[in-house]
Amino acid sequence: MLADWDRPVEVERLADGGESRGFDLPLAEMLRLLPALASTEGYARGHVSFARKRGRPVAELSVSARLSLRCQRCLNPVWIEVDDQSQVRFVSDPAWADENDSGIEPTLASGGKISLRDLVEEGLLLSVPLVPRHGDLRECGVFDDQTTEDEGMQRPFAGLGELLKRRS
Ligand SMILES: [Zn+2]
Repeated sequence: MLADWDRPVEVERLADGGESRGFDLPLAEMLRLLPALASTEGYARGHVSFARKRGRPVAELSVSARLSLRCQRCLNPVWIEVDDQSQVRFVSDPAWADENDSGIEPTLASGGKISLRDLVEEGLLLSVPLVPRHGDLRECGVFDDQTTEDEGMQRPFAGLGELLKRRS
């Protein structure tokens, strides 16, 4: 069953068949997402359904996952809840991606085909924050270090040189 998610399928056919199904995919198998993950445990769960809009194949995707990312402040893991709903349209040529089509996000379906896992992974990648951080500075455990550093930056005699110059 899972192998099915890897196989590129024709989006035109999925749209014609009104394909609709739920999924439960291991994060560990999402190769493009892996570099961003601090832990590969967990699943992406959700639902995808295909249809036609103005004659073009589109998909509705809802995906939720609990992702362990790296906090860009302290580099420790930070858990981010993703619960995203999106609609994508398929283009078989990148040159057509710019074409404005009712504001729906374009996704490249090379040769008119896409694997369902690529589609789910794409949706996840779009909902991952560019700079993940702990919401509270104290969760980073670097609050004290930061304070000390700032105090070290103060230069109490910085004005002295200026003062002496003026006197001469
Ligand atoms: Zn942090």
